[in-house]
Amino acid sequence: MNSTPRIIFRIFPQRHGWEFAIPAGKPSHKQALAYAKKMKDCWQKREWGFLEEIALVTGLSWRRTEIPCYIVAVEQSWSSSDPLLIPMGLSSKAKIESNCYNLEHELIHCLLLDNLNKEDLSGEDWIFDWHEQRYPVETPLCRIHILVHAIHACVHKGSIKQIQIAPPPAYKRSWEIIEKEGAESIVQAFRTSAATRIIESSIES
Ligand SMILES: [Zn+2]
Repeated sequence: MNSTPRIIFRIFPQRHGWEFAIPAGKPSHKQALAYAKKMKDCWQKREWGFLEEIALVTGLSWRRTEIPCYIVAVEQSWSSSDPLLIPMGLSSKAKIESNCYNLEHELIHCLLLDNLNKEDLSGEDWIFDWHEQRYPVETPLCRIHILVHAIHACVHKGSIKQIQIAPPPAYKRSWEIIEKEGAESIVQAFRTSAATRIIESSIES
Protein backbone atom coordinates (compact mmCIF):
# COMPACT_ATOMS: atom_id res chain seq x y z
CA MET A 1 0.00 0.00 0.00
CA ASN A 2 1.35 3.43 -0.94
CA SER A 3 1.77 5.93 1.84
CA THR A 4 1.95 9.70 1.85
CA PRO A 5 5.46 11.13 2.30
CA ARG A 6 6.53 13.22 5.25
CA ILE A 7 8.03 16.63 4.46
CA ILE A 8 11.24 17.22 6.42
CA PHE A 9 12.38 20.83 6.62
CA ARG A 10 16.15 21.37 6.56
CA ILE A 11 18.60 24.16 5.95
CA PHE A 12 20.36 23.97 2.59
CA PRO A 13 23.52 21.98 3.48
CA GLN A 14 26.19 24.66 3.34
CA ARG A 15 28.71 22.34 4.96
CA HIS A 16 28.57 20.05 1.89
CA GLY A 17 30.24 22.58 -0.33
CA TRP A 18 27.14 24.30 -1.71
CA GLU A 19 28.16 27.68 -0.29
CA PHE A 20 28.18 29.12 -3.81
CA ALA A 21 24.44 29.70 -3.51
CA ILE A 22 24.69 31.63 -0.25
CA PRO A 23 25.58 35.34 -0.44
CA ALA A 24 28.34 36.04 2.10
CA GLY A 25 26.88 36.35 5.58
CA LYS A 26 23.39 37.33 4.47
CA PRO A 27 20.88 36.07 5.47
CA SER A 28 22.63 34.41 8.41
CA HIS A 29 22.48 30.75 9.32
CA LYS A 30 20.46 31.72 12.40
CA GLN A 31 17.94 33.60 10.25
CA ALA A 32 17.73 30.60 7.91
CA LEU A 33 17.02 28.29 10.85
CA ALA A 34 14.30 30.62 12.14
CA TYR A 35 12.81 30.83 8.64
CA ALA A 36 12.82 27.04 8.26
CA LYS A 37 10.92 26.77 11.54
CA LYS A 38 8.35 29.33 10.36
CA MET A 39 7.92 27.48 7.07
CA LYS A 40 7.45 24.22 8.98
CA ASP A 41 4.83 25.81 11.26
CA CYS A 42 3.08 27.43 8.31
CA TRP A 43 3.05 24.15 6.38
CA GLN A 44 1.78 22.15 9.35
CA LYS A 45 -1.06 24.65 9.89
CA ARG A 46 -1.99 24.56 6.22
CA GLU A 47 -1.46 20.82 5.77
CA TRP A 48 -5.03 19.80 5.14
CA GLY A 49 -4.25 16.63 3.24
CA PHE A 50 -2.70 18.38 0.24
CA LEU A 51 -0.37 15.45 -0.52
CA GLU A 52 -3.24 12.96 -0.39
CA GLU A 53 -5.47 15.27 -2.42
CA ILE A 54 -3.05 15.71 -5.35
CA ALA A 55 -2.55 11.93 -5.47
CA LEU A 56 -6.33 11.47 -5.46
CA VAL A 57 -7.13 13.96 -8.23
CA THR A 58 -4.38 12.62 -10.53
CA GLY A 59 -4.78 8.92 -9.74
CA LEU A 60 -1.02 8.76 -9.09
CA SER A 61 0.77 7.26 -6.07
CA TRP A 62 3.62 8.50 -3.94
CA ARG A 63 6.72 6.32 -3.97
CA ARG A 64 8.85 8.25 -1.49
CA THR A 65 8.10 8.10 2.21
CA GLU A 66 10.08 11.25 3.06
CA ILE A 67 10.85 14.38 1.07
CA PRO A 68 13.52 16.72 2.45
CA CYS A 69 12.61 20.37 1.80
CA TYR A 70 15.74 22.52 1.89
CA ILE A 71 15.35 26.15 2.89
CA VAL A 72 17.96 28.16 0.97
CA ALA A 73 19.26 31.34 2.57
CA VAL A 74 18.89 33.59 -0.46
CA GLU A 75 16.52 36.44 -1.14
CA GLN A 76 15.82 35.56 -4.76
CA SER A 77 12.45 34.19 -5.72
CA TRP A 78 12.82 30.76 -7.31
CA SER A 79 12.27 27.19 -6.23
CA SER A 80 13.07 23.66 -7.37
CA SER A 81 11.45 20.24 -7.02
CA ASP A 82 14.48 17.95 -7.48
CA PRO A 83 16.02 18.51 -5.01
CA LEU A 84 13.19 20.31 -3.27
CA LEU A 85 14.56 23.81 -2.61
CA ILE A 86 12.62 26.79 -1.30
CA PRO A 87 14.44 30.14 -1.04
CA MET A 88 13.92 32.30 2.01
CA GLY A 89 12.99 35.35 0.01
CA LEU A 90 11.76 38.19 2.17
CA SER A 91 10.99 37.03 5.66
CA SER A 92 7.58 38.65 6.02
CA LYS A 93 4.58 36.54 6.99
CA ALA A 94 3.01 37.11 3.58
CA LYS A 95 6.13 35.77 1.90
CA ILE A 96 6.11 32.66 4.07
CA GLU A 97 2.51 31.99 3.10
CA SER A 98 3.25 32.51 -0.57
CA ASN A 99 6.27 30.23 -0.16
CA CYS A 100 3.90 27.57 1.18
CA TYR A 101 2.03 27.89 -2.15
CA ASN A 102 5.43 27.55 -3.90
CA LEU A 103 6.02 24.45 -1.83
CA GLU A 104 2.67 23.02 -2.96
CA HIS A 105 3.61 23.76 -6.58
CA GLU A 106 6.93 21.94 -6.20
CA LEU A 107 5.26 19.02 -4.42
CA ILE A 108 3.00 18.54 -7.46
CA HIS A 109 6.20 18.27 -9.54
CA CYS A 110 7.51 15.79 -6.91
CA LEU A 111 4.43 13.59 -7.35
CA LEU A 112 4.91 13.60 -11.13
CA LEU A 113 8.62 12.80 -10.61
CA ASP A 114 7.65 9.83 -8.44
CA ASN A 115 5.71 8.45 -11.41
CA LEU A 116 8.26 8.83 -14.21
CA ASN A 117 9.78 5.74 -15.82
CA LYS A 118 12.95 6.14 -13.81
CA GLU A 119 13.98 2.54 -14.42
CA ASP A 120 13.76 3.10 -18.19
CA LEU A 121 17.06 4.71 -19.18
CA SER A 122 16.01 5.06 -22.82
CA GLY A 123 14.43 8.37 -21.90
CA GLU A 124 10.90 7.37 -22.87
CA ASP A 125 8.51 8.83 -20.43
CA TRP A 126 4.75 8.56 -20.46
CA ILE A 127 4.07 11.81 -18.56
CA PHE A 128 6.14 13.93 -20.95
CA ASP A 129 4.65 12.01 -23.90
CA TRP A 130 1.16 12.85 -22.66
CA HIS A 131 2.03 16.55 -22.61
CA GLU A 132 3.71 16.46 -26.00
CA GLN A 133 0.82 14.70 -27.70
CA ARG A 134 -1.82 16.93 -26.15
CA TYR A 135 0.02 20.26 -26.54
CA PRO A 136 2.50 19.76 -29.42
CA VAL A 137 2.99 23.47 -30.21
CA GLU A 138 3.64 24.63 -26.64
CA THR A 139 7.09 24.86 -25.05
CA PRO A 140 8.11 22.06 -22.62
CA LEU A 141 8.00 24.55 -19.70
CA CYS A 142 4.48 25.61 -20.65
CA ARG A 143 3.30 22.01 -21.22
CA ILE A 144 4.35 20.73 -17.80
CA HIS A 145 2.82 23.76 -16.11
CA ILE A 146 -0.54 23.30 -17.80
CA LEU A 147 -0.85 20.09 -15.80
CA VAL A 148 0.86 21.33 -12.61
CA HIS A 149 -1.27 24.50 -12.45
CA ALA A 150 -4.43 22.61 -13.38
CA ILE A 151 -3.85 20.14 -10.52
CA HIS A 152 -3.11 23.04 -8.15
CA ALA A 153 -6.26 24.87 -9.27
CA CYS A 154 -8.36 21.71 -8.83
CA VAL A 155 -7.32 21.15 -5.23
CA HIS A 156 -7.82 24.84 -4.40
CA LYS A 157 -11.12 24.95 -6.29
CA GLY A 158 -9.71 27.36 -8.87
CA SER A 159 -8.48 30.06 -6.47
CA ILE A 160 -4.73 29.63 -6.98
CA LYS A 161 -4.01 31.86 -9.98
CA GLN A 162 -4.10 35.17 -8.09
CA ILE A 163 -1.17 34.38 -5.81
CA GLN A 164 1.35 34.20 -8.65
CA ILE A 165 3.06 37.56 -8.93
CA ALA A 166 4.75 38.37 -12.26
CA PRO A 167 4.67 34.81 -13.61
CA PRO A 168 7.06 33.95 -16.50
CA PRO A 169 5.52 33.87 -20.03
CA ALA A 170 5.30 30.06 -20.10
CA TYR A 171 3.25 30.13 -16.88
CA LYS A 172 0.97 32.86 -18.23
CA ARG A 173 0.40 30.83 -21.39
CA SER A 174 -0.38 27.72 -19.29
CA TRP A 175 -3.08 29.66 -17.41
CA GLU A 176 -4.60 30.85 -20.71
CA ILE A 177 -4.92 27.22 -21.80
CA ILE A 178 -6.37 26.21 -18.41
CA GLU A 179 -8.95 29.00 -18.67
CA LYS A 180 -9.94 27.80 -22.11
CA GLU A 181 -10.09 24.06 -21.38
CA GLY A 182 -10.91 24.06 -17.67
CA ALA A 183 -8.62 22.73 -14.94
CA GLU A 184 -10.99 19.87 -14.11
CA SER A 185 -11.16 18.57 -17.66
CA ILE A 186 -7.35 18.70 -18.10
CA VAL A 187 -6.82 16.77 -14.86
CA GLN A 188 -9.59 14.33 -15.79
CA ALA A 189 -7.92 13.64 -19.17
CA PHE A 190 -4.57 13.08 -17.44
CA ARG A 191 -6.15 10.84 -14.81
CA THR A 192 -7.74 8.68 -17.53
CA SER A 193 -4.34 8.32 -19.23
CA ALA A 194 -2.63 7.60 -15.88
CA ALA A 195 -5.19 4.88 -15.10
CA THR A 196 -4.50 3.17 -18.44
CA ARG A 197 -0.78 3.41 -17.77
CA ILE A 198 -1.13 1.99 -14.27
CA ILE A 199 -3.18 -0.95 -15.59
CA GLU A 200 -0.57 -1.58 -18.34
CA SER A 201 2.29 -1.53 -15.80
CA SER A 202 0.54 -3.98 -13.52
CA ILE A 203 -0.09 -6.36 -16.43
CA GLU A 204 3.60 -6.13 -17.46
CA SER A 205 4.94 -6.74 -13.94
ZN1 LIG B 1 6.96 24.42 -11.75
